[in-house]
Amino acid sequence: MRLILLGPPGAGKGTQAQRLVDKHRIPQLSTGDMLRAAVKAGTEVGRRAKAVMDAGELVSDEIVNAIVAERIDQADCARGFILDGYPRTLAQADAVGRMLAERGIDLDVVIELVVDDKALVGRILRRAEEAKAAGQPVRKDDTAEVFDERLREYYKKTAPLIGYYYAKGKLVGVDGMADIDAVTAQVEKVLARHAGRGLVGAE
Ligand code: AMP
Repeated sequence: MRLILLGPPGAGKGTQAQRLVDKHRIPQLSTGDMLRAAVKAGTEVGRRAKAVMDAGELVSDEIVNAIVAERIDQADCARGFILDGYPRTLAQADAVGRMLAERGIDLDVVIELVVDDKALVGRILRRAEEAKAAGQPVRKDDTAEVFDERLREYYKKTAPLIGYYYAKGKLVGVDGMADIDAVTAQVEKVLARHAGRGLVGAE
């Protein structure tokens, strides 16, 4: 099963992806996590991405496309994967479409977590508080100021993917304002209906 979780920062993509990992035994491919790991490790990619991420802007398509192309060829992705936070631009959506087509596979579904923007900044600030209370590192971009920029980037560059995937017949919206278990239940319903649709060509 190959799916994309789409939605603004704080919509709950990471939380739902984690639940899907546990239930379906397929990996979560979060470009945000991969980039943060690169920053921490001090790699060339990490050095190039850090300032952009701290400002809440998007890292270049070239960097994230290369990271994802390498990741989906790893053995644990053979049965499928959850793309969380990728693609985030139309160019990335085209790129992932090509990557999958070259491998004779396709997406099963794109799930949009539909949320009320006004609730998002509160969720992000709560995430920062919880990380701090748990003694975990707090993301530098989980502040009210940087969040504004992340949301602007979402509307400018990522929201057009809603129309893009709708036109391809891949998009399903789920109410992301419901409680976490109810969102998970809705996501599972969508997956039950769409599983297997990405099995084309060579597979
Ligand atoms: P996230 O953890 O998904 O909120 O991502 C954190 C930050 O990493 C974003 O604000 C961007 O700076 C960067 N990032 C993550 N995924 C992408 C992507 N697909 N394209 C460009 N930048 C990304």
